[in-house]
Amino acid sequence: MPETQLNGSGGYIVADISEELTKKADLGVGKLFLAPIGKLPEESMKKHFCKNCDEEFPSPPTIHLEENPDEEVADNLILIERGQYTCQKCNFTIGEYRVFEKKDESKDIGTANPNSP
Ligand SMILES: [Zn+2]
Repeated sequence: MPETQLNGSGGYIVADISEELTKKADLGVGKLFLAPIGKLPEESMKKHFCKNCDEEFPSPPTIHLEENPDEEVADNLILIERGQYTCQKCNFTIGEYRVFEKKDESKDIGTANPNSP
């Protein structure tokens, strides 16, 4: 599987991801983004680039987890986990992730787009 560069606000992460995740990350502007994916499996991340260090590191970034926010962000859609990928050297935030869950699996989500695995 080819390594994919996923862009965040403070750099990028190079990861081995499935075609399905690649499609999620593609916002149609010729670049792939971290934000729409949700949380990347740690073992899939190979490298990270930090804009602050202006350097690419041959290791996965650090994951900073914020305690379960448990926020209802849309009708029937709960934000269950939020965190950041940060530079291993300087702790600069490379990108953020959010994991959502439906409150009631049998119902549709109101206005938001389903983000199921
Ligand atoms: Zn850094």
